[in-house]
Amino acid sequence: MKIGFIGLGNMGAPMATNLANAGHEVIGFDVAGTTADNVAVASSLEQAVGSAEAIITMLPNGAILRAVAADVIAAAPKGALFADCSTVDVASARAVATDAEAAGLLAVDAPVSGGVGGASGGTLTFMAGGSADAYAKAEPLFEIMGQKSVHCGDSGAGQAAKICNNMILGATMIATCESFALADKLGLSREKMFDVVSTSSGYSWSMNAYCPAPGIGPQSPADNDYQPGFSSDLMLKDLNLSQQAAEDVDAATPMGALALKLYDQFVKDGGTGQDFSAMLPYLGKQGHDG
Ligand code: NAD
Repeated sequence: MKIGFIGLGNMGAPMATNLANAGHEVIGFDVAGTTADNVAVASSLEQAVGSAEAIITMLPNGAILRAVAADVIAAAPKGALFADCSTVDVASARAVATDAEAAGLLAVDAPVSGGVGGASGGTLTFMAGGSADAYAKAEPLFEIMGQKSVHCGDSGAGQAAKICNNMILGATMIATCESFALADKLGLSREKMFDVVSTSSGYSWSMNAYCPAPGIGPQSPADNDYQPGFSSDLMLKDLNLSQQAAEDVDAATPMGALALKLYDQFVKDGGTGQDFSAMLPYLGKQGHDG
């Protein structure tokens, strides 16, 4: 397939490379002039998408997606697939899909989980929203870039799944970290705490697969001085998106709201650029009243 790939950043570049290595003809474009291994570079967005059968975008946020989508829609051939894999607000995803479909494109919003490691290794999970036809055209590409994709529903459903998942992740990571901080002060060893909780009703992905305490459980960013992994800044972005969505549809999300407040403060207090599990040493330095 001829694929135009827009946004060759930390995630987009390895994803584009995996498509090229699987035999697709990939041509990439990024305003910052970044490139990707085995991927041809276009001198303009129009050149990347003008004769593409599929266009994939991997961009920072909804405002940038909306601007890029207007150019993509103007330049792409009718019938082409437009798959946006960025994490953006549900409203932007739906607006872009409506405009793309009106111009005769097949639109799918397909944010990912799995981070930079998953993008390089081709092991991402895709959560997709859009028509059955659009998903059917996109699925073989998701299979190359990832190990699992789920068709979640109509346009916006992929973004909805992503922000709901990450709202759970933010809240459970904080709960896991504050429990370790409490256990420390109660004199309970972290090793024993892990042994109990990871096989008891408090278990979660944050505890079992991504333990925030160094030297405990499987290898995680805590073992690498909290180098991200998944940065606290990206967690803050996703928690902001989930609160924006909750406000838009009048949903009660008190834990999500508190998780947003805590990650916002953590990032302001120096957590920027650290893995989101560095909430553990941050909370460990505080007392009961802050
Ligand atoms: P990034 O900042 O490394 O990459 C984004 C790229 O888009 C940059 O290279 C930038 O130059 C380019 N860009 C910006 N405006 C553009 C334009 N108008 N035209 C063309 N290119 C443009 O970000 P990333 O880490 O690759 O993340 C991309 C998306 O994936 C984000 O929405 C992020 O929330 C999501 N995501 C990231 C991770 C992660 O671990 N990094 C995990 C899951 C989801």
